[in-house]
Amino acid sequence: MSMDGRTCVITGSARGIGRGIAEYLGAEGANVVVNYRSSEGDAYDAVETIEAAGGEAIAAQADVTDREGVEAMRDHCHETFGPADVLVNNAGITADTQFTEMTREEWDRVMDVNLGGTFNCTQVFYDDIWNADEGRLINISSVVGKQGNFGQANYAAAKSGMFGFTRTIALELAQGGSTANCVAPGFTRTDMVEAVPDKVLDRIVAGVPLARLAEVEDIAAVVRFLASEDSSYVTGEVIDVNGGMDL
Ligand code: NAP
Repeated sequence: MSMDGRTCVITGSARGIGRGIAEYLGAEGANVVVNYRSSEGDAYDAVETIEAAGGEAIAAQADVTDREGVEAMRDHCHETFGPADVLVNNAGITADTQFTEMTREEWDRVMDVNLGGTFNCTQVFYDDIWNADEGRLINISSVVGKQGNFGQANYAAAKSGMFGFTRTIALELAQGGSTANCVAPGFTRTDMVEAVPDKVLDRIVAGVPLARLAEVEDIAAVVRFLASEDSSYVTGEVIDVNGGMDL
């Protein structure tokens, strides 16, 4: 198995894309830290699913905007599995509204979780990733960070901010032999997209050459590649997983 014994921390992995990544990496032999903020039941359910498939996992509560909470999660990870080899910054939120109506609070909230959380987790796990044999940082951005999207000025800014962040950390981590990459999913079937009206979703799918939404497994398979030793010479990249949306 390609991830045998590698310890992977995935933020926001009780549900949605993070859950898909956690289960995929667990099935490949990784030790998985299932981070959650509020979805405790789903987090323990994810742990059970991973264990039932023969993997090892723990649930770790931490709000990624809370530095001390993230440090406690790192300590929990160290006590159970040792230092992390892979950090996936996946936790994210939206607060959509047309720019003229957007409040400063909606701007700050989206920045705090998507970018501030990425800052906190990357800094807290930095030494682990630096010292790991083939350490990996993987940031989950979005097609919206490249293309923009009506009503998502805050989210688009945060997600494109991840590109510059990733390229810079890739340069700094390279000196220690570890890598940093971004995955930019297209519209993926999760609770986040459930909130989008069917009429809008139909329009989105009409603009996808592969003519469907992504499933969480489509994203997880690419994360698995980036997390494994197969991607040793890939760093500072943004990998689009969007069914050809920008063709
Ligand atoms: P989702 O179904 O809404 O799930 C969001 C996840 O983020 C939940 O597990 C949630 O944890 C966690 N989270 C939110 N705020 C957090 C915080 N402060 N601390 C810790 N965890 C927090 O979203 P998703 O669709 O799976 O999206 C996952 C990532 O992919 C996000 O970064 C999103 O921007 C990105 N993405 C999604 C799509 C899409 O179409 N779905 C497309 C491109 C990119 P709790 O439930 O425990 O609160």
